Order: sequence, then C-alpha cells, then structure tokens
Amino acid sequence: MARLLVTGAAGFIGTHLVRRLAADGHSVVGVDRRPAVGAPSSVDFRVADLLDADLAPLLDGADAVIHLAGQPGVRESWGQFHAYSRGNIETTQRLLEALRGRPVRKFLLASTSSVYGSATMPAREDGPTLPVSPYGATKLAAEALCDLYGRTAGVPWVALRYFTVYGPGQRPDMAFTRWLSAVHAGRPIPLYGAGDQIRDFTYVDDVVEATVRAALGPVSGLAVNVGGGSPVSVREALSAIERVTGRWVAIDRQPPAPGDMAVTRADTARLERELGFKPATPLEDGLAAQYRWILAREGGEPV
Ligand code: NAD
Repeated sequence: MARLLVTGAAGFIGTHLVRRLAADGHSVVGVDRRPAVGAPSSVDFRVADLLDADLAPLLDGADAVIHLAGQPGVRESWGQFHAYSRGNIETTQRLLEALRGRPVRKFLLASTSSVYGSATMPAREDGPTLPVSPYGATKLAAEALCDLYGRTAGVPWVALRYFTVYGPGQRPDMAFTRWLSAVHAGRPIPLYGAGDQIRDFTYVDDVVEATVRAALGPVSGLAVNVGGGSPVSVREALSAIERVTGRWVAIDRQPPAPGDMAVTRADTARLERELGFKPATPLEDGLAAQYRWILAREGGEPV
C-alpha cells in the first residue's frame, strides 16, 4: 500500500479520489484550503493553502503526490487571471520545488482538455496545444513546469488532461449540475450559442480510475488524455437530461461565451496504451447518478 498526498481533496474530483484510495487501503493525506465534507475517517485531512503552507510536513513519507488543487473554470478565467496564475501555476511550482531531492515516485498534475483550445480534434497529446482561454494557458504552464522539474530535478511526473468531468458532487458552476438543478426546479436552462458544441463528457469514476493507475503505475514524463467516454453535442446532452429526468427542458438562448471550445474530443490511444484503460460509463448512467445526487441534495423524488 502506498502513502499518497492528494491536494484539492475537498473538491469535486478530490472527494471521489480520496474515498477510492482509502477504500483500497492506501494511506492518504488530503489537503485543501476549505474543509472536506464527508471524507473517510481514515484520511488524514489538513486545511491549508498551498500558496503559503509549509509543504515539508505534507510531503514527508509521500510515495506520490496527486495535485488536483487549482482554479478551474473557463469563462471566469478572463476576469480573474491572478487567481488562475496563483491557483494553477504557483501551487504547482511550489510543490515541485518542495519535491526536489525527495524520493517521490510520481507527481501527478490534474491538467485539462482546455490546453488544446483550437487544435484539431480528436486531440493527440503529441499534437499542438492552442489554448483559447487564460485557464487553458495556465494549465499548459503548469505542465511545462512538470517537464522542467522532470528534466532538471528528476521529479517523475505525469499530467492527466481531463475532459469535462461529471457525476455526483460536480462543481456548482459546471453545466450538468446547473442544468439538472434548473430542470428539477422548473427553470429554463441558459444555452450559450446554438448547442452544437461537442464535449467529451467523462464520468468521475472513470477519471478516478485513470488517476489511480497513473499515480501508482510506471507511466512518467508525459501528458495523457483522460476522455473518450461520451463525446456528444450539448443538444444531445440536453435530450439525455430529458430522458433521465422525465422532464421537458426549456431553453434560454444566450450568445456564445468567449473561450468556449467548439469541440473537445480525446484521442485515447495513449491512455489505453499507458494506463490499460478507457472511460466507458454511458452518459445516461452517469447523468442518472448525478440526478439522484441532485434530488438527495435539493429534495424531491425521481419521476
Ligand atoms: P474543485 O474546484 O471542485 O476542486 C479544486 C479544489 O482545490 C477546491 O476544493 C479548492 O478549495 C482547492 N484549492 C484551490 N486552490 C488551493 C490552494 N491554493 N490551496 C489549497 N487548496 C486549493 O475542482 P474539480 O472539478 O474537482 O477539479 C480538480 C482539478 O481538475 C482542478 O485542477 C481542475 O482544473 C482540473 N480539471 C477539472 C475538470 C472538470 O471537468 N472538473 C476538467 C479538467 C481539469
């Protein structure tokens, strides 16, 4: 069993990940600047800000570091660049610098499909990265820091480029949580543009599986796409929501949002080769699980 430090452990993906690692019997230290809700009692959870915390006590004895903490969200990244550069670039650099000389087996960065931006889809890890948002640019800078510390300080790293993660606990700013809550409350769903954007929706359990494999396995020194679960248009996703909720979806048309990519779609050849795994949760199964979570949170019965 390994000893793992998980940053961003109170977040959406972090909550699922620490639960899985603890269930597998690993020794887990979780850190986040906000308290965790419902973390397993076996997780050593610490509230600290990675921008000023003393990192040595967090890293002591760690076999691997899974760095999920960061500033997510594409649309907001135009207006609050400071939060994005600190959350995504500075936290990564501080951790990597603190790992210098430590015998850690892996530093895993939570990167994003947003590094691809206007690149041709399905996107390959060895193809161009052309971010179209400050968020994507800061994650690309974080990947460059991993590469830098890998080459100059010998830190073994992997960057997982997650593609639109969804499931129970999804962040309140993300589409499916907003949409399912709106449908449940009988409110219209704001739709940016025509709804023909394609998103490679990836269920959170599949993301956790890929993350565990990458953190504990031999893969090192490269970026790996984590997607390929359900690439569908936003309109198709809305139809799936109607089927899952049994409710009609009213649309509130909005202009296209700057930084929104037209298509995200993962080439999964490297994922399958390096991690022996490909996300396969059907969209409607994942949406149904997320809707059950919304109902439990907001009250109400499935129809
Ligand atoms: P989240 O916001 O739910 O979780 C991130 C957590 O990091 C939060 O709990 C936050 O408090 C913590 N954090 C941020 N800055 C910190 C700091 N300075 N010190 C300590 N804690 C800090 O986000 P998420 O959706 O769970 O995403 C996790 C990671 O995966 C992020 O880095 C995100 O950019 C990346 N990612 C997410 C998606 C997605 O679809 N959810 C897609 C691609 C990449």
